[in-house]
Amino acid sequence: MEMTVVVLGHVDHGKSTLIGRLLYDTGQVQADRVNFACNRSAEQGRSLEYAFLLDGLAEEQEQGITIDFTQTRLRFENRDFVIADAPGHREFLKNMLSGASQAEAAIVVIDATEGVREQSRRHGYLLSLLGVTQIAVVVNKMDLVDWSKPVFQSIQQEYEEFLQGQGMEAMQYIPIAAYTGDNLIQTSENLAWYQGPTVREQFLAFQPARKAQEALRFLVQDVYRFGSQRLLAGRIESGCLTQGQDVVVWPTAEKTKIQRIDCWPRLETLSAHQRECVAVELADPLFAERGMMLSGAVQPPAISRCFRARVVWLGRKELAVGQRYKLKLGCQEVGAWFERFDRVIDIGNLQDASLAGVPAGFVGEGLLMTDQPIMFDEFSAIPATGRFVLVDGYQIAGGGIVLATAAGERQNF
Ligand code: GDP
Repeated sequence: MEMTVVVLGHVDHGKSTLIGRLLYDTGQVQADRVNFACNRSAEQGRSLEYAFLLDGLAEEQEQGITIDFTQTRLRFENRDFVIADAPGHREFLKNMLSGASQAEAAIVVIDATEGVREQSRRHGYLLSLLGVTQIAVVVNKMDLVDWSKPVFQSIQQEYEEFLQGQGMEAMQYIPIAAYTGDNLIQTSENLAWYQGPTVREQFLAFQPARKAQEALRFLVQDVYRFGSQRLLAGRIESGCLTQGQDVVVWPTAEKTKIQRIDCWPRLETLSAHQRECVAVELADPLFAERGMMLSGAVQPPAISRCFRARVVWLGRKELAVGQRYKLKLGCQEVGAWFERFDRVIDIGNLQDASLAGVPAGFVGEGLLMTDQPIMFDEFSAIPATGRFVLVDGYQIAGGGIVLATAAGERQNF
């Protein structure tokens, strides 16, 4: 099973060079692509820029790419990795929160000559927000600091303290020179003082399948009718489905059983698991439409018009109390606004700001209201149904997570 690893870091710290060189050293790029990158580098009077190997590669590999996010495939031994390279925290967030990409592990790249920068901290914070716990930090361009152990150690210490403050810990810190390939595939002689894994070994140390969550969440994306038969097509975001299982259809709360599961390309199957897209037939001809959800007989989703949320705001206009947006959670779309903010945090320095609204680059925590009841879960319990995006016009202006159901607050809704 493939695994998505996101590569993050301040611009120019060497993300593309790292990915390009890994592909190159493992022979995973075509000769004409290498020629293209050589020629382009030569035109600019440079030796081979490994980053150029990536230009257009994602399109060539025919990934389901989103505009702001390149995804490159990398294979080590018999394991497949999808490398998501986010040009900035805005794109990263948009894709993670909208579910376009769900990274299970992250590599944070820090330039040894520049050290920990604001962007390095922001990315660390976003990983904590999104619940990505498998993190490796690579300190790059070690060639430019004379392969210095003290430089590496001081960057490691600074980032370690920062992550600790967020309640996080990196699995590994690795000194590398992406450009020269030191510690990527081969152990580096220049960095003989370092005893840990290479980048390739680190990839293999990432654990693939995230612990499967038990509570069933099947989001209905479409309903197809064939005569009297009705098929609910959608994705299992959590748990698994089995033929004959008792399920509850939300928000109508009607109980039924799973009659049949179709799973392309196998067709009929007895069971299906988290992340699989399937079509199910229910034992009873209940009303169903896009945006509905199936759960098991126990552990239902929350259904409410309000919850406590944490939102990372990227919109041009500041996020203000009472301002209306479109909220998308799974296939559900409703009008939404913040009733109040309890905290506003600057992602740059992670300090609380005493502001009434939330400007771009800030995080707001408070009570979110929707104009119709929606189904959701707390992010800490079920991430897939605990995250949402806020859309302003046609633009994703912010993304957030459900911190808690707002029990006791505005129960009249
Ligand atoms: P990105 O913006 O993080 O993707 O950074 P790039 O991969 O485009 O790298 C930025 C610049 O740093 C390029 O000119 C690279 O050649 C250079 N670079 C990347 N890694 C290294 C390294 O290990 N050593 C040296 N000396 N330069 C590097």
